[in-house]
Amino acid sequence: MTLRGRLTTAFLVVVLGPVLLGSIFVAMTVATVSRDRAAERLDHAAATVRTSMAATCQQLQAAADTVATVPAANRQDVVGRLIARGLATDIRIAGTAPRPDDGKIGGRPDCASPTGGPMNVIAARAVTGDLTITAAQTIDEGFLARLEAAAGADVAVTAPELTERKQPSGERRRMTPQPGQPLALTVTLPPHRPIFLYAVLPAVVLAAALAAVLVARWLAHSTTRPLGELAWAAGRVAEGDLDTRVPIPHPDELGRLAATFNRMTRELQAYVQALTASRDQLRGHLAILGETLSSTHDLHRILQVILRTALAATGARAGLVLLIDRPSGQLVAQCGVGLAGRWDVPEAELPQQRLPIGEGVLGAVAASGEPRRGQGELASSEPPCRTYVAVPICAPGVPEEPGDPVPFPETLGVLALYDRVGGDSFDDSDLSTLRTFAGQAGVAVHNVRLHEEAQRLSLTDPLTGLWNYRYLRESLRREVERASRFGRMLAVLVLDLDHFKDVNDTYGHAAGDAVLGEFARRIRVGLREVDVAFRQGGEEFVVLLPETDAYGGAIVAERLGAAVRAQPVSIDGVQVPISVSIGVAVFPEHGENSLQVLAAADRALYAAKNAGRDTYRLAEPADVTKSGVSPGDHDGDFDATTAVPSGPRPPQRRRGR
Ligand code: GH3
Ligand code: MG
Ligand code: MG
Repeated sequence: MTLRGRLTTAFLVVVLGPVLLGSIFVAMTVATVSRDRAAERLDHAAATVRTSMAATCQQLQAAADTVATVPAANRQDVVGRLIARGLATDIRIAGTAPRPDDGKIGGRPDCASPTGGPMNVIAARAVTGDLTITAAQTIDEGFLARLEAAAGADVAVTAPELTERKQPSGERRRMTPQPGQPLALTVTLPPHRPIFLYAVLPAVVLAAALAAVLVARWLAHSTTRPLGELAWAAGRVAEGDLDTRVPIPHPDELGRLAATFNRMTRELQAYVQALTASRDQLRGHLAILGETLSSTHDLHRILQVILRTALAATGARAGLVLLIDRPSGQLVAQCGVGLAGRWDVPEAELPQQRLPIGEGVLGAVAASGEPRRGQGELASSEPPCRTYVAVPICAPGVPEEPGDPVPFPETLGVLALYDRVGGDSFDDSDLSTLRTFAGQAGVAVHNVRLHEEAQRLSLTDPLTGLWNYRYLRESLRREVERASRFGRMLAVLVLDLDHFKDVNDTYGHAAGDAVLGEFARRIRVGLREVDVAFRQGGEEFVVLLPETDAYGGAIVAERLGAAVRAQPVSIDGVQVPISVSIGVAVFPEHGENSLQVLAAADRALYAAKNAGRDTYRLAEPADVTKSGVSPGDHDGDFDATTAVPSGPRPPQRRRGR
């Protein structure tokens, strides 16, 4: 059964029940009152009949007495007059006779001593001397009609054979003869049916029932219609249509429910919109993060994107990424957003902001590897904030060998967020989100460092630790370009150990390696910080001297040659003397580009070899080379301007071993 049906039924039961009970009560009361009133009217009619009959009897007695008292001569006149006046219908004068015991006078009921019975005449008698005067009244239709008019009811002599009147139906009372009323009479009231009880009341009840049904239907409809609209709207909202609203017809309880529903839907819509915007923003950040992680090894940029994504995901106002610098035992700021106090510096100056490991919240996180969150309680050296959450950035635990247990992850730094928008503290879900980003930061730092190491290994020579030929080409091109841009010079030295084959042949290949290592060390020691040394291949080395002219290059060549020559290399207690030949060329003096300068230095090296080794030579100027003149080399004496060089052009030497 629907709610509308139940409401209709309930209303009908509540309204129609009392109406029906009330109408039954009214009907019963009206019937009782009607019966009582009929009995009262019957009593009244009977009393009226009795009084009228007594009056008639007294009238007859008076007529008889009057006749008895008048003189005999006048009696017939008096009788005539009395009858004419209607005081009796018959007056008879007769001789005195004994009074009968049956109470009748000549067969007529005697008013004085009634015996009842079916008679249609009543009489009264007076005795004077030997005469008996009898006055009689006929009980005919006229007499009864007068009685009925006085009583307001039908009156009939009880003996039906004495009257032709038909007994009417209705309430009736039988009257027995008694003194003053000698007849047996029946008084009848016409039947009385209360119209209200039998017609109006059912009509009223029917009309009330009809009205109740209509009102019940209207009430149920007006009550359930808003509920139906609410149910429909709730269904639409459940299907995702958050634009749905319900009308608010009246400010009653249902109206308030509808208003609350509309407000709830509006707020839900705003919440979903905010959530969608935040999701889109986060999605954008995650896309940038994914792209950044996969496309660059720029650690600073990666950390910056991770920090910004973490801020978007948690709704924090500020954030900071610090990495541990092991040698100094400090946390070094890498990137920050929205920081205050001494931390509010340009991005480039952030690395100057440092915190000792173990100091404050950030230092404690770095030292323990445990995340922290809370409010206030930060050391004065840390960024000022109201709330914070900080998690360690850990390197991914990678077993050294397959099957080995995963090592405890090394803490690489700290990722911290400050002051969540809205003022709430960071909760567990923020902490868990931040740990995810810290995990990504850990992997990124680890990968970048691995990449840097791999790159370093790919560009260095494992035997000597110097940069290799690959890096030489790149560095030479870069340095030539820089020198060209700033109008500076660049000196290029090509070094080749003398008779190194003999070292190998004499002391073995391992000894040769040791000699190469020691030679590289002496080169490194003899150079400035800005100078860079490379192993070009075999026992050939290259040194780049930025912002150095031919004079400076010659000095360095001289110094390196001396350093090699000065001290034999000790191998297993055996002193192995070594020497080096060096060719010197200068950009732009000896070549317009990196290859030309290197080739010029190469030629100068061969000039040095040709000059007897353990010396250096300066390359010829480039225009001389370009003009096709055979390159003559300067000798080891820097002041010499001409040189040596007669002899065949040196063959093109191989690179590497
Ligand atoms: P020169 O004075 O003309 O330069 O004579 P050299 O013997 O030094 O020159 P040569 O080109 O004839 O020989 C170079 C030798 O260097 C040959 C090769 O076995 C050796 N060599 C090259 N690379 C290595 C290396 O990595 N380790 C060792 N032990 N020997 C190497
Ligand atoms: Mg060589
Ligand atoms: Mg050599």
